[in-house]
Amino acid sequence: MTRRPKPSGATGLVREDDGVSARDVLEAAPDALVVADEAGTIVRVNLAAEQLFGYAPGELTGKPVEVLVPEVYRDAHVGHRLGYNRRMRRRPMGSGPDLYGLRRDGSEFPVEISLSPLMTARGTVVIAAVRDISARKQAEAERSHLIRERALYAEISRLARRDALTGLPNRTLLVDRVGAAIASAQRHQHKLAVIFLDLDRFKHVNDSLGHAVGDRLLRSVASRLTGAVRASDTVSRQGGDEFVILLSEVRHREDVVVAAGKIVAALAQPHQVDGQDLYVTASLGIAVYDEDGADVHTLIKNADVAMYYAKDHGRDNYQFFTPEMNARIVERQALEGNLRRAIERREFLLYYQPKVDLETGRMIGAEALIRWQHPVRGLLPPQRFVPVAEDSGLIVPIGQWVLHEACRQAREWQAAGLHPVPIAVNISALEFRSKNFLERVRRTLDETGLEPRFLELELTESVLMESVDETAEVLRELKAMGLRLAVDDFGTGYSSLSYLTQFPIDALKVDQSFVRDIAPRDGSPIITAVISMGKSLNQRVIAEGVETWVQVEFLRAQQCEEAQGFHFGRPLAADQFAALLG
Ligand code: C2E
Ligand code: MG
Ligand code: MG
Repeated sequence: MTRRPKPSGATGLVREDDGVSARDVLEAAPDALVVADEAGTIVRVNLAAEQLFGYAPGELTGKPVEVLVPEVYRDAHVGHRLGYNRRMRRRPMGSGPDLYGLRRDGSEFPVEISLSPLMTARGTVVIAAVRDISARKQAEAERSHLIRERALYAEISRLARRDALTGLPNRTLLVDRVGAAIASAQRHQHKLAVIFLDLDRFKHVNDSLGHAVGDRLLRSVASRLTGAVRASDTVSRQGGDEFVILLSEVRHREDVVVAAGKIVAALAQPHQVDGQDLYVTASLGIAVYDEDGADVHTLIKNADVAMYYAKDHGRDNYQFFTPEMNARIVERQALEGNLRRAIERREFLLYYQPKVDLETGRMIGAEALIRWQHPVRGLLPPQRFVPVAEDSGLIVPIGQWVLHEACRQAREWQAAGLHPVPIAVNISALEFRSKNFLERVRRTLDETGLEPRFLELELTESVLMESVDETAEVLRELKAMGLRLAVDDFGTGYSSLSYLTQFPIDALKVDQSFVRDIAPRDGSPIITAVISMGKSLNQRVIAEGVETWVQVEFLRAQQCEEAQGFHFGRPLAADQFAALLG
C-alpha cells in the first residue's frame, strides 16, 4: 500500500499567530482527516471527512472515533488505538490492508488510513488521514477475476485440445497443427506426412485383460510413439486405439519410410503393464503432402483409407496412400448396398470342400464355404464380401442363411442315401455373439431335421478369446446339444492356451500358412507342436490348405489325422459334391 506524505510539520500546524489556521491546513489536505485525542474522542475533522462519512458539519466533534469503524472491528480498533498511544506515540503509522470505514447511514467502505501523532498544547492528538479505496478495490477485484477467468479459459482450451487419457493432442489440435504445417510446407517448399495408426486386435486386450490394462497399454503406446518421432512432430490420439502422427517436415518419401520403421520398431518392444509383458502391433496408413492431399482433411482421410488397406493386408504393416485405395472404398460401399439385397435375391450359394482321413484317404467330412453369385461381377469368393458383411453387421443374417442351408443340404443328401458326413460351418464373431445364437442353432436343427452330430461349427481363435467366460458358457451349451466344435485358422490368433484347454473343443484346424511353410526336409516345427498339443488335449488336428505330396507325407509322418486342401479336392458346388459323396 502506498504511503502518502504525512501532514505537514507539527509546529506550523497549530500555531495560530502565523496567519495559517489549523482549520485551513485541515481543509487544504487532499484526504479526509480525523483528529482524535488520546482518549479516542474526535476533536476535529475536515469537510472531506464529514462528506466521506456522511455527517453534517460539526456533528462528529466530541464523538468517539469508533463511530467511524464498523461494529465488528470496534473492539479491535480500541485495542490498536491504546497500543498506538503506548508505543508508537511519536511515530506516524502506516496504513493497513483490509480496513473498513462506517458511514452514518450504516454502509461500509474500504479505506486506507495513515496515522500521525501530533503534540499540542492540550496533549498528544492523532491525525488520521482516511482515503476511500472502493474504486481501487473494485478494479483489483475485477483484475483478479479477469486473471482467474483467463487462466480458466486457458485450462479449458488446453483440455479441449488434449486427450484426457494420454495427454496427447486430440483431433482438434492435430487439425490445427497439420494446417500450420501445410502453410509452412508451402512457404519453405518441403513435404509433410500424416500417419494414421490403429493398433491390431486391441479390442482383444480390452476384452480379455480389462479396460484398466487397456488404458495403461494405450498410455505406454502414446509414450513410445512420442519417443519415436521428433519433438517438432505431433502425436495425437483420435480416440480408441487410433493415433494420428504428423511428421511436420519431410524432404523425401524415403524419410517417411524411415520414420514409419522407427514407429513400428518402438511399438514392437514389449509394453510392461501390471507386471506383465504385452505385445502390440499396429497398422499404419500414410498420406504425404501434397501428392496425397492438399488440405488437412483430405490428408487425414487418405491416411485413414491407407490404414484400412494395411489392415486388409494382414495388419502389422504400413501402406502409403494410392488413389486406387479410394476406388476400393467406393467399391466397398457399393458392395454393401448390393449385399443387403443379396439375401432376398437368393444370390448366395454354398460350396463344399472335403476333409479326408490322412491314413485311409476316406472323406470324413466337408466344410461349407459361401460364394456370392453377383449379378454383374460373377461368382465372388468370401474374401471379397465377408469382411464388408462383418463390418456392416450383415454377416448375422447371412450366417443364419448359411447355417440353415448347410443343414438342409446335409439332411437332403442323407435322405437321398448318400454317404453321411458331418458338415462344418464357419461362424463369425458377430454371429457367435449375437442374441439368440444358441436358440437359432437349436431351431435350425429342428427345422431341418439334421442330427446335431452332423454339424460342426468352426470358430476362429479371436472369437473364442473374446470375453472368455461367456464364450465357455456358449460352447458348453453347444456341446451339450451334441454339436462338434473346431478352432479355425489355429496358430494365427492370440490364444491363451490355458483358456483353450478349458473349452470343450473337438478339433484344431492348423492354419494354411503353416502348412504352406512345410519345408521339404525340415517339415514345420509349429505343425509338429500343434499336433502333439492336440493329441495331449484329445483334440483332432486338421491340416488346412494341403496342396502337395511333400505336405501330405510330412503330416502323415507326424500322425496328423485329417487334412483338407486342393490336393484332396477343391470346394465344389452342391451337385458336384453330391456326385463325390455318391
Ligand atoms: P477357412 O474357413 O479357413 O476356409 C478355408 C479356405 O481355404 C477356403 O477359402 C478354401 O477354399 C481355401 N482352401 C482350401 N484348400 C486350399 C488349398 O489347398 N490351398 C489354398 N490356397 N486354399 C485352400 P474360401 O472358400 O475362399 O473361404 C475363405 C474364408 O472365408 C474361410 O476361411 C472362412 O474364414 C470364410 N468363410 C467362408 N465361408 C464362410 C461362411 O459361410 N461364413 C463365414 N462367416 N465365413 C466364411
Ligand atoms: Mg473354416
Ligand atoms: Mg481356416
